[in-house]
Amino acid sequence: MPEFLPYGRQWVDDDDVAAVVDVLRSDYLTTGPAVDRFEAALTGATGATHAVAVNSGTSALHAMYFAAGIGPGDEIVTSPLTFAATANAALYLGASVRFVDVEPDTGNLDPALVEAAIGERTKAIVPIDFAGHPADYDRLRAIADRHGLRLLADAAHSLGATYKGRPVGTLADASELSFHPVKPVTTAEGGAVVTDDAELAQRAARFRTHGITKNAAELEHPDEGPWWYEQHDLGFNYRLTDVHAALGTSQMHKLDRFVGRRRAIAAKYDALLADVDALELPGRRDDVEPGWHLYVVRTRRPQLRKPLFEHLSAHGLGVQVHYLPVYWHPYYAALGYRRGLCPEAERFYASAITLPIFPAMSDDDVERVVDVVHAAVCTLA
Ligand SMILES: *Cc1c(COP(=O)(O)O)cnc(C)c1O
Repeated sequence: MPEFLPYGRQWVDDDDVAAVVDVLRSDYLTTGPAVDRFEAALTGATGATHAVAVNSGTSALHAMYFAAGIGPGDEIVTSPLTFAATANAALYLGASVRFVDVEPDTGNLDPALVEAAIGERTKAIVPIDFAGHPADYDRLRAIADRHGLRLLADAAHSLGATYKGRPVGTLADASELSFHPVKPVTTAEGGAVVTDDAELAQRAARFRTHGITKNAAELEHPDEGPWWYEQHDLGFNYRLTDVHAALGTSQMHKLDRFVGRRRAIAAKYDALLADVDALELPGRRDDVEPGWHLYVVRTRRPQLRKPLFEHLSAHGLGVQVHYLPVYWHPYYAALGYRRGLCPEAERFYASAITLPIFPAMSDDDVERVVDVVHAAVCTLA
């Protein structure tokens, strides 16, 4: 059996390990100075004014929606071509989800279809930067402004990417990041909300600690005494530990290098797979520098997807499919969503295969993937 090559993997070096060990020997294990440093690294890299680090991307989505004022009876508009958490976090708050179809080339929320989906209860538009390719933020911003809606980004894939020269993290009213091991940088588990909105950041920070604050400016009874704290919202324990934050700060030093390597791998795939007529390679808009979290090819014939996937798996390639439309999950079907709702997303799902891409992948690894793909389409096409 050839060596297994996953679709994505972290890159952790000795200096990352040393940064974690330093914290383990320090006074703080959780939500102390290492979290402050990590949040500073996130604002530094994105250009956003505030960062609130939490213990997963999913809790970041939950905190972001809560902080944006989304609650029972409200609705978000988002794409079904995403990880379930994008939608789940709205359900946690008693809100509902209106799924809108995607652009066939990028897999991103199609701005041309968003306006018709906006109703009385809509509170926010939530694009996903699918595969690390930023959504069409200027068009989405215009729609959000016209209807008085929040623009909230699921940027779990796209830290380090830019749209019209502007970095992810500054493109929406708030953006959620994930630091799961396959994401652009890792804290093992972790996430963050980045935003320029001070009030939104403050609400997200409170949500991270049970809705409790000790901040004198927020207290109703500041004169009780120095021990006093107050719970203002029903929050959660979503704190990131200092141990994880130290790993994150160390990883952030490498963000540019990691993203640069992903771009080089994507360019190599683009060049070496251009002659494979059976496949459509990932789309890229002119005004975007993607972060290439995923490299998703599509089979032109849907019937080719399954045998090609099986062939690549049998040759040790950790291929994946991103994503099955969220509303196809039995949980969502039971809520009343029906197949056929978003035909482009369903066609995308039916033809998609994610090839391995991660910064530590060697050029030889890339060539191996390309060779296996070439051999497969010859046998199967
Ligand atoms: C990874 C991911 C998340 C959040 O995931 P966590 O595992 O909770 O960090 C959210 N949305 C998308 C699109 C993701 O890929």
